[in-house]
Amino acid sequence: MPKRRIYLDAAATTPLLPEVYEAMQPFWSQNFGNPNSLHTWGREARVAIEEARRTISTLIGAQPDELIFTASATEAANTIIYGLVSARHVKSLIVSRIEHHCVLEPAQFAHHHWQIPLAYIRNDNLGRIDLNHLEELLKTLPRPALVCVIHANNEIATIHEPQPIAQLVHHYEGFLFMDMVQTFGHYAINLAELPIDYTIASAHKFHGPKGVGFLYVRKGKPVPILLRGGAQERQFRAGTENVPGIIGMATALQTVLNHLNHHQQHIQNLRRYLRDQLKTLFPDILFNGDASDQGLYTVLNVCFPPHPAGEMLLLRLDIEGIAASAGSACSSGAHQRSHVLEAIGAPPNRPSIRFSFSHLNTQDELDYLLEVLKRIYAETPTPTT
Ligand code: PLP
Repeated sequence: MPKRRIYLDAAATTPLLPEVYEAMQPFWSQNFGNPNSLHTWGREARVAIEEARRTISTLIGAQPDELIFTASATEAANTIIYGLVSARHVKSLIVSRIEHHCVLEPAQFAHHHWQIPLAYIRNDNLGRIDLNHLEELLKTLPRPALVCVIHANNEIATIHEPQPIAQLVHHYEGFLFMDMVQTFGHYAINLAELPIDYTIASAHKFHGPKGVGFLYVRKGKPVPILLRGGAQERQFRAGTENVPGIIGMATALQTVLNHLNHHQQHIQNLRRYLRDQLKTLFPDILFNGDASDQGLYTVLNVCFPPHPAGEMLLLRLDIEGIAASAGSACSSGAHQRSHVLEAIGAPPNRPSIRFSFSHLNTQDELDYLLEVLKRIYAETPTPTT
């Protein structure tokens, strides 16, 4: 058994905050009503859902009826792509190569099975899309296009500013979908001032429960539908609502945003500390994506120097009680090379590991990580030729 357990994988998921659990708890037991029932139990649940919708929409600068609750951000992304394509609201798809799989896979499916034109936007070595190439694609592909560009990348911390992208997309009558899963709860987002047509969120990325998220559709834009059945969510998303999940999501967002400045500062300091200490420890270390202070402050993707210690590094960290995530090839313990690292041309012969942080992490934990790394590298001999 490892002596310590250190969780440095907050971009994968975050623990539920105690106040979130407390807020959810009654909706599993005494207030268990189906929000679609007309009796008191049902009405109580309905009131709670609508209150959660108002809370979330106020926090992110949306109108309550611009939000559709879903079971995950993956469902929300699938809804946008399949919904818009199948209803012929869009005639082509233009996506960045550093999208999450929940965007890439439905886009590829729609292309292969429904023959919708699909194009990938060129990017630089930080993963930032080439706006000139985007314009070329918008000019040549059938209109309107749905353009999918991730806001903050979950693997390499690269952030896309929405304004210049939206300006182009809208000039060519397209729609802009930006995946904001890694930014909601971590930045002050005001959708009223962002020219984004569609976005998605997932509660478990900001200390809410798993299995609940939302889809945002700007008023006046076509509403994509994936799940048909009951009249829930104004008939845009059938299926009995996850009442405790929705309450938990609203409470989590409210709670983390209450402490946003403090958390941002704390996490940014941790990230800087780890980045700088790693540079001292391994002079030829590289970072994948945007390791600067302008990058997503919760994520640091480290590209370790080629060395036998890099073999199965992720597993060796796990044995030492440290949870992080693979960003790269089998050499770090991952099954498959990441499409994001491939898209930015990250060196394939170096193990890449994504460390990601929450406000619950401490500098002491990072010192332990650094100690462990030092030990692993010192204990693994370099082969003599
Ligand atoms: N988009 C991004 C950027 C993510 O990091 C994730 C989760 O890993 C998702 C989408 C999918 O979220 P969910 O777990 O709610 O399906």
